[in-house]
Amino acid sequence: MLALVKAENSAGLWLQQVARPIPAADEVLIQIRKTGICGTDLHIWNWDDWARKTVPVPLVTGHEYAGEIVEVGKLVSHLRPGMRVSGEGHIIDINSAAARAGRFHLDPNTRGIGVNRPGAFAEYLALPAFNVIPLPDEIDDELGAILDPLGNAVHVALSFDLVGEDVLITGAGPIGIMAAAVARHVGARNVVLTDVNPVRLALASRVADVVTVNPREMPLADVMSRLHIVNGFSVGFEMSGYNEALEQLIGAMEPGGRVACLGLPSGRISLDWSRIVCKGLFLKGIYGREMFETWRKMLNLIATGLDVRGIITHRLPVDRYKEGFQAMLAGDAGKVVLSWPA
Ligand code: NAD
Ligand code: ZN
Repeated sequence: MLALVKAENSAGLWLQQVARPIPAADEVLIQIRKTGICGTDLHIWNWDDWARKTVPVPLVTGHEYAGEIVEVGKLVSHLRPGMRVSGEGHIIDINSAAARAGRFHLDPNTRGIGVNRPGAFAEYLALPAFNVIPLPDEIDDELGAILDPLGNAVHVALSFDLVGEDVLITGAGPIGIMAAAVARHVGARNVVLTDVNPVRLALASRVADVVTVNPREMPLADVMSRLHIVNGFSVGFEMSGYNEALEQLIGAMEPGGRVACLGLPSGRISLDWSRIVCKGLFLKGIYGREMFETWRKMLNLIATGLDVRGIITHRLPVDRYKEGFQAMLAGDAGKVVLSWPA
Protein backbone atom coordinates (compact mmCIF):
# COMPACT_ATOMS: atom_id res chain seq x y z
CA MET A 1 0.00 0.00 0.00
CA LEU A 2 0.95 3.66 -0.38
CA ALA A 3 2.12 5.48 2.77
CA LEU A 4 3.91 8.64 3.88
CA VAL A 5 6.95 7.27 5.64
CA LYS A 6 9.70 8.75 7.78
CA ALA A 7 12.13 6.66 5.81
CA GLU A 8 15.45 8.36 6.53
CA ASN A 9 17.22 10.16 9.35
CA SER A 10 16.73 13.58 7.76
CA ALA A 11 14.08 16.22 7.08
CA GLY A 12 11.08 15.30 4.93
CA LEU A 13 8.66 12.42 4.40
CA TRP A 14 8.62 9.92 1.58
CA LEU A 15 5.61 8.52 -0.31
CA GLN A 16 6.40 4.82 -0.57
CA GLN A 17 4.94 1.35 -1.02
CA VAL A 18 4.92 -0.54 2.29
CA ALA A 19 3.28 -3.74 3.53
CA ARG A 20 -0.41 -3.47 4.43
CA PRO A 21 -0.86 -3.92 8.23
CA ILE A 22 -2.56 -7.09 9.47
CA PRO A 23 -5.07 -6.31 12.25
CA ALA A 24 -4.65 -8.21 15.52
CA ALA A 25 -7.63 -10.05 17.05
CA ASP A 26 -8.72 -6.93 18.99
CA GLU A 27 -8.10 -4.52 16.10
CA VAL A 28 -9.86 -3.34 12.96
CA LEU A 29 -8.39 -2.50 9.56
CA ILE A 30 -9.45 0.95 8.31
CA GLN A 31 -9.18 2.02 4.69
CA ILE A 32 -8.12 5.65 5.00
CA ARG A 33 -9.99 8.29 2.94
CA LYS A 34 -8.80 11.64 4.36
CA THR A 35 -6.02 12.70 6.71
CA GLY A 36 -5.11 15.99 8.41
CA ILE A 37 -1.59 17.36 8.82
CA CYS A 38 -0.83 18.26 12.45
CA GLY A 39 1.87 20.42 14.07
CA THR A 40 3.34 17.16 15.38
CA ASP A 41 3.79 15.99 11.77
CA LEU A 42 5.79 19.18 11.12
CA HIS A 43 8.16 18.29 13.97
CA ILE A 44 8.57 14.87 12.37
CA TRP A 45 9.02 16.42 8.93
CA ASN A 46 11.64 18.89 10.26
CA TRP A 47 13.31 16.07 12.19
CA ASP A 48 13.94 18.26 15.24
CA ASP A 49 15.44 17.03 18.52
CA TRP A 50 12.10 15.82 19.87
CA ALA A 51 11.33 13.87 16.68
CA ARG A 52 14.79 12.27 16.51
CA LYS A 53 14.47 11.09 20.10
CA THR A 54 10.88 9.87 19.74
CA VAL A 55 10.16 8.51 16.27
CA PRO A 56 11.67 5.20 15.08
CA VAL A 57 12.87 5.04 11.46
CA PRO A 58 11.25 3.84 9.27
CA LEU A 59 7.72 4.68 10.43
CA VAL A 60 4.40 5.36 8.69
CA THR A 61 3.40 8.79 10.07
CA GLY A 62 0.07 10.61 10.63
CA HIS A 63 -2.63 10.46 13.30
CA GLU A 64 -5.59 12.55 12.05
CA TYR A 65 -7.85 10.49 9.81
CA ALA A 66 -11.21 9.22 8.68
CA GLY A 67 -11.99 6.13 6.66
CA GLU A 68 -13.99 2.94 6.44
CA ILE A 69 -13.60 -0.35 8.30
CA VAL A 70 -12.75 -3.13 5.84
CA GLU A 71 -11.84 -5.94 8.25
CA VAL A 72 -12.39 -6.73 11.94
CA GLY A 73 -10.32 -8.96 14.23
CA LYS A 74 -11.99 -12.05 15.65
CA LEU A 75 -12.44 -10.57 19.15
CA VAL A 76 -14.23 -7.47 17.82
CA SER A 77 -18.00 -7.71 18.10
CA HIS A 78 -19.34 -4.13 18.14
CA LEU A 79 -17.84 -2.93 14.83
CA ARG A 80 -18.26 -4.23 11.30
CA PRO A 81 -16.91 -3.68 7.78
CA GLY A 82 -18.53 -0.75 5.98
CA MET A 83 -18.70 1.52 9.04
CA ARG A 84 -17.27 5.01 8.51
CA VAL A 85 -14.95 5.86 11.39
CA SER A 86 -12.30 8.08 12.88
CA GLY A 87 -10.50 7.25 16.09
CA GLU A 88 -8.41 8.19 19.07
CA GLY A 89 -4.75 8.05 18.07
CA HIS A 90 -3.44 7.54 21.61
CA ILE A 91 -3.11 3.81 22.21
CA ILE A 92 -3.20 3.14 25.94
CA ASP A 93 -2.49 0.41 28.44
CA ILE A 94 -5.93 -0.16 29.94
CA ASN A 95 -4.32 -1.83 32.96
CA SER A 96 -2.45 1.24 34.20
CA ALA A 97 -3.61 2.89 37.44
CA ALA A 98 -4.68 6.02 35.52
CA ALA A 99 -6.74 3.99 33.06
CA ARG A 100 -8.34 1.92 35.81
CA ALA A 101 -9.28 5.19 37.52
CA GLY A 102 -11.10 6.20 34.33
CA ARG A 103 -8.43 8.71 33.26
CA PHE A 104 -7.56 6.90 30.05
CA HIS A 105 -5.97 10.01 28.49
CA LEU A 106 -3.42 10.20 31.33
CA ASP A 107 -2.10 6.66 30.97
CA PRO A 108 1.71 6.98 31.31
CA ASN A 109 2.32 4.21 28.76
CA THR A 110 0.41 5.94 25.94
CA ARG A 111 1.78 5.29 22.46
CA GLY A 112 0.81 7.52 19.56
CA ILE A 113 -0.03 6.22 16.11
CA GLY A 114 2.24 7.91 13.57
CA VAL A 115 4.67 8.79 16.38
CA ASN A 116 5.59 5.57 18.23
CA ARG A 117 3.77 3.00 16.07
CA PRO A 118 2.53 2.90 12.43
CA GLY A 119 0.18 5.75 11.62
CA ALA A 120 -2.66 6.87 9.39
CA PHE A 121 -0.84 8.51 6.46
CA ALA A 122 -1.43 5.30 4.55
CA GLU A 123 -4.06 3.49 2.54
CA TYR A 124 -4.74 1.23 5.55
CA LEU A 125 -4.44 1.60 9.33
CA ALA A 126 -4.73 -1.19 11.93
CA LEU A 127 -6.29 0.26 15.09
CA PRO A 128 -7.45 -1.27 18.40
CA ALA A 129 -11.26 -1.50 18.32
CA PHE A 130 -11.23 0.30 21.70
CA ASN A 131 -9.98 3.44 19.92
CA VAL A 132 -12.48 3.48 17.05
CA ILE A 133 -15.11 6.25 16.84
CA PRO A 134 -17.97 5.52 14.40
CA LEU A 135 -18.97 8.63 12.44
CA PRO A 136 -22.57 9.79 12.04
CA ASP A 137 -23.70 10.62 8.50
CA GLU A 138 -23.51 14.39 9.06
CA ILE A 139 -19.76 14.17 9.63
CA ASP A 140 -18.13 13.60 6.26
CA ASP A 141 -14.61 12.22 5.83
CA GLU A 142 -12.96 15.62 5.65
CA LEU A 143 -14.49 16.74 8.95
CA GLY A 144 -13.79 13.29 10.36
CA ALA A 145 -10.10 13.83 9.55
CA ILE A 146 -9.86 16.89 11.82
CA LEU A 147 -11.69 15.53 14.86
CA ASP A 148 -8.40 14.88 16.65
CA PRO A 149 -7.40 18.59 16.84
CA LEU A 150 -11.03 19.66 17.24
CA GLY A 151 -11.03 17.25 20.19
CA ASN A 152 -8.07 19.12 21.72
CA ALA A 153 -10.08 22.33 21.35
CA VAL A 154 -13.22 20.77 22.85
CA HIS A 155 -11.22 19.28 25.73
CA VAL A 156 -9.86 22.74 26.56
CA ALA A 157 -13.10 24.62 26.02
CA LEU A 158 -15.23 22.28 28.10
CA SER A 159 -12.78 22.32 31.03
CA PHE A 160 -14.71 25.14 32.67
CA ASP A 161 -18.23 26.53 32.61
CA LEU A 162 -18.17 29.19 29.87
CA VAL A 163 -21.80 30.28 29.89
CA GLY A 164 -21.90 34.08 30.08
CA GLU A 165 -18.15 34.27 30.76
CA ASP A 166 -15.41 36.41 29.20
CA VAL A 167 -12.80 34.13 27.65
CA LEU A 168 -9.28 35.03 26.55
CA ILE A 169 -7.49 32.65 24.16
CA THR A 170 -3.84 33.19 23.26
CA GLY A 171 -2.72 31.65 19.95
CA ALA A 172 -4.92 31.54 16.85
CA GLY A 173 -3.50 28.31 15.45
CA PRO A 174 -6.05 25.80 14.18
CA ILE A 175 -6.72 24.54 17.71
CA GLY A 176 -7.04 28.02 19.26
CA ILE A 177 -9.44 29.08 16.51
CA MET A 178 -11.57 25.96 16.94
CA ALA A 179 -11.60 26.45 20.74
CA ALA A 180 -12.86 29.99 20.15
CA ALA A 181 -15.67 28.62 17.97
CA VAL A 182 -16.60 26.09 20.67
CA ALA A 183 -16.56 28.78 23.40
CA ARG A 184 -18.99 30.91 21.38
CA HIS A 185 -21.16 27.91 20.57
CA VAL A 186 -21.60 27.03 24.26
CA GLY A 187 -22.50 30.57 25.28
CA ALA A 188 -19.45 32.58 26.35
CA ARG A 189 -20.22 36.33 26.49
CA ASN A 190 -16.99 37.57 24.90
CA VAL A 191 -14.26 35.51 23.28
CA VAL A 192 -11.04 37.41 22.63
CA LEU A 193 -8.41 35.60 20.56
CA THR A 194 -4.84 36.88 20.26
CA ASP A 195 -2.09 36.14 17.76
CA VAL A 196 0.89 38.00 16.33
CA ASN A 197 0.25 36.66 12.82
CA PRO A 198 -2.35 38.77 10.92
CA VAL A 199 -3.11 35.94 8.48
CA ARG A 200 -4.10 33.67 11.36
CA LEU A 201 -6.24 36.43 12.90
CA ALA A 202 -8.04 36.94 9.58
CA LEU A 203 -8.68 33.21 9.32
CA ALA A 204 -10.05 33.22 12.88
CA SER A 205 -12.54 35.96 11.97
CA ARG A 206 -13.82 33.87 9.07
CA VAL A 207 -14.26 30.73 11.19
CA ALA A 208 -15.65 32.07 14.46
CA ASP A 209 -17.55 35.06 15.81
CA VAL A 210 -14.70 36.32 17.99
CA VAL A 211 -12.81 39.51 18.75
CA THR A 212 -9.30 39.14 17.33
CA VAL A 213 -6.32 41.11 18.62
CA ASN A 214 -2.67 41.45 17.72
CA PRO A 215 -1.31 42.39 21.17
CA ARG A 216 1.86 43.80 19.61
CA GLU A 217 -0.30 46.37 17.81
CA MET A 218 -3.08 47.04 20.29
CA PRO A 219 -2.90 46.75 24.09
CA LEU A 220 -5.23 44.08 25.44
CA ALA A 221 -6.41 46.64 28.01
CA ASP A 222 -7.96 48.74 25.20
CA VAL A 223 -9.94 45.76 23.94
CA MET A 224 -11.05 44.92 27.47
CA SER A 225 -12.35 48.40 28.17
CA ARG A 226 -14.20 48.44 24.82
CA LEU A 227 -15.90 45.18 25.83
CA HIS A 228 -16.57 46.39 29.40
CA ILE A 229 -14.39 43.68 30.90
CA VAL A 230 -13.52 45.44 34.13
CA ASN A 231 -11.67 43.04 36.42
CA GLY A 232 -10.11 40.76 33.83
CA PHE A 233 -11.11 37.57 32.00
CA SER A 234 -12.79 34.86 34.05
CA VAL A 235 -11.47 32.07 31.80
CA GLY A 236 -8.19 31.83 29.85
CA PHE A 237 -6.88 29.28 27.36
CA GLU A 238 -3.18 29.26 26.49
CA MET A 239 -2.98 27.72 23.02
CA SER A 240 0.20 29.14 21.51
CA GLY A 241 3.09 27.64 23.49
CA TYR A 242 4.82 31.04 23.67
CA ASN A 243 6.14 32.58 26.89
CA GLU A 244 5.01 36.08 25.89
CA ALA A 245 1.44 34.87 25.36
CA LEU A 246 1.25 33.01 28.67
CA GLU A 247 2.50 36.08 30.55
CA GLN A 248 -0.08 38.25 28.83
CA LEU A 249 -2.82 35.78 29.64
CA ILE A 250 -1.90 35.59 33.33
CA GLY A 251 -1.79 39.38 33.44
CA ALA A 252 -5.28 39.73 31.95
CA MET A 253 -7.03 37.20 34.24
CA GLU A 254 -9.41 38.29 36.98
CA PRO A 255 -8.73 37.16 40.55
CA GLY A 256 -9.89 33.58 40.95
CA GLY A 257 -9.89 33.07 37.17
CA ARG A 258 -9.51 29.65 35.59
CA VAL A 259 -6.79 28.88 33.05
CA ALA A 260 -6.38 25.83 30.80
CA CYS A 261 -2.99 25.32 29.14
CA LEU A 262 -2.65 23.31 25.92
CA GLY A 263 0.26 25.06 24.17
CA LEU A 264 3.60 23.25 24.41
CA PRO A 265 6.59 25.59 24.75
CA SER A 266 9.72 24.50 22.90
CA GLY A 267 11.84 25.07 26.02
CA ARG A 268 11.61 26.40 29.56
CA ILE A 269 9.51 29.47 30.20
CA SER A 270 9.85 32.22 32.79
CA LEU A 271 6.90 33.79 34.58
CA ASP A 272 6.08 36.22 37.36
CA TRP A 273 4.79 33.33 39.47
CA SER A 274 3.59 35.57 42.31
CA ARG A 275 0.87 36.90 40.00
CA ILE A 276 -0.63 33.43 39.74
CA VAL A 277 -0.44 32.97 43.52
CA CYS A 278 -1.77 36.40 44.49
CA LYS A 279 -4.63 36.27 41.99
CA GLY A 280 -5.55 32.82 43.25
CA LEU A 281 -5.69 31.47 39.70
CA PHE A 282 -6.72 27.91 38.95
CA LEU A 283 -4.39 26.28 36.39
CA LYS A 284 -5.12 23.10 34.44
CA GLY A 285 -2.81 21.32 32.00
CA ILE A 286 -4.57 19.73 29.03
CA TYR A 287 -3.29 16.62 27.30
CA GLY A 288 -4.96 15.08 24.28
CA ARG A 289 -8.65 14.31 24.50
CA GLU A 290 -10.58 12.64 27.32
CA MET A 291 -11.38 9.10 26.26
CA PHE A 292 -14.06 9.10 25.36
CA GLU A 293 -16.03 11.91 26.91
CA THR A 294 -14.44 14.59 24.70
CA TRP A 295 -15.37 12.56 21.61
CA ARG A 296 -18.98 12.16 22.72
CA LYS A 297 -19.40 15.85 23.47
CA MET A 298 -17.63 16.85 20.24
CA LEU A 299 -19.98 14.77 18.07
CA ASN A 300 -22.95 16.25 19.94
CA LEU A 301 -21.65 19.80 19.52
CA ILE A 302 -21.36 19.25 15.76
CA ALA A 303 -24.89 17.79 15.74
CA THR A 304 -26.11 20.97 17.44
CA GLY A 305 -24.58 23.24 14.82
CA LEU A 306 -20.94 23.78 15.79
CA ASP A 307 -19.35 24.62 12.44
CA VAL A 308 -15.55 24.62 12.17
CA ARG A 309 -15.26 23.54 8.55
CA GLY A 310 -13.79 26.93 7.60
CA ILE A 311 -10.58 25.94 9.39
CA ILE A 312 -9.75 23.68 6.41
CA THR A 313 -7.78 25.92 4.06
CA HIS A 314 -6.09 23.32 1.84
CA ARG A 315 -7.45 20.15 0.22
CA LEU A 316 -4.92 18.10 -1.75
CA PRO A 317 -4.48 14.59 -3.15
CA VAL A 318 -1.78 12.74 -1.21
CA ASP A 319 0.69 12.80 -4.12
CA ARG A 320 0.84 16.60 -3.59
CA TYR A 321 1.68 16.18 0.12
CA LYS A 322 4.80 18.33 -0.21
CA GLU A 323 2.63 21.36 -1.06
CA GLY A 324 0.51 20.63 1.98
CA PHE A 325 3.53 20.47 4.28
CA GLN A 326 4.99 23.65 2.76
CA ALA A 327 1.69 25.47 3.44
CA MET A 328 1.73 24.28 7.06
CA LEU A 329 5.41 25.12 7.53
CA ALA A 330 4.76 28.68 6.31
CA GLY A 331 2.64 29.13 9.47
CA ASP A 332 -0.40 30.72 7.80
CA ALA A 333 -2.52 27.69 6.92
CA GLY A 334 -5.51 26.39 8.83
CA LYS A 335 -5.91 22.65 8.48
CA VAL A 336 -4.50 20.86 5.43
CA VAL A 337 -6.46 17.74 4.44
CA LEU A 338 -4.97 15.07 2.16
CA SER A 339 -7.15 12.63 0.20
CA TRP A 340 -6.16 9.00 -0.26
CA PRO A 341 -6.96 6.89 -3.35
CA ALA A 342 -10.40 5.26 -3.14
P1 NAD B 1 0.16 26.52 15.93
O1 NAD B 1 1.62 26.48 16.17
O2 NAD B 1 -0.36 26.40 14.55
O3 NAD B 1 -0.43 27.87 16.57
C1 NAD B 1 0.22 28.64 17.52
C2 NAD B 1 -0.12 30.10 17.24
O4 NAD B 1 0.42 30.91 18.29
C3 NAD B 1 0.48 30.63 15.92
O5 NAD B 1 -0.54 31.12 15.06
C4 NAD B 1 1.43 31.73 16.39
O6 NAD B 1 1.49 32.83 15.47
C5 NAD B 1 0.77 32.14 17.70
N1 NAD B 1 1.62 32.97 18.57
C6 NAD B 1 2.96 33.09 18.59
N2 NAD B 1 3.34 34.01 19.51
C7 NAD B 1 2.21 34.49 20.08
C8 NAD B 1 1.93 35.46 21.06
N3 NAD B 1 2.93 36.13 21.68
N4 NAD B 1 0.66 35.70 21.39
C9 NAD B 1 -0.35 35.03 20.79
N5 NAD B 1 -0.16 34.11 19.83
C10 NAD B 1 1.11 33.83 19.48
O7 NAD B 1 -0.44 25.42 16.88
P2 NAD B 1 -1.77 24.51 16.95
O8 NAD B 1 -1.63 23.36 16.04
O9 NAD B 1 -3.02 25.32 16.89
O10 NAD B 1 -1.52 24.01 18.45
C11 NAD B 1 -1.53 24.94 19.51
C12 NAD B 1 -0.53 24.56 20.59
O11 NAD B 1 -0.97 23.37 21.26
C13 NAD B 1 0.88 24.24 20.11
O12 NAD B 1 1.81 24.70 21.09
C14 NAD B 1 0.90 22.71 20.07
O13 NAD B 1 2.21 22.20 20.22
C15 NAD B 1 0.05 22.39 21.26
N6 NAD B 1 -0.65 21.09 21.26
C16 NAD B 1 -0.80 20.50 22.46
C17 NAD B 1 -1.53 19.32 22.56
C18 NAD B 1 -1.75 18.72 23.91
O14 NAD B 1 -2.25 17.58 23.96
N7 NAD B 1 -1.43 19.42 24.98
C19 NAD B 1 -2.11 18.75 21.42
C20 NAD B 1 -1.94 19.40 20.18
C21 NAD B 1 -1.21 20.58 20.12
ZN1 ZN C 1 -2.50 16.12 15.96
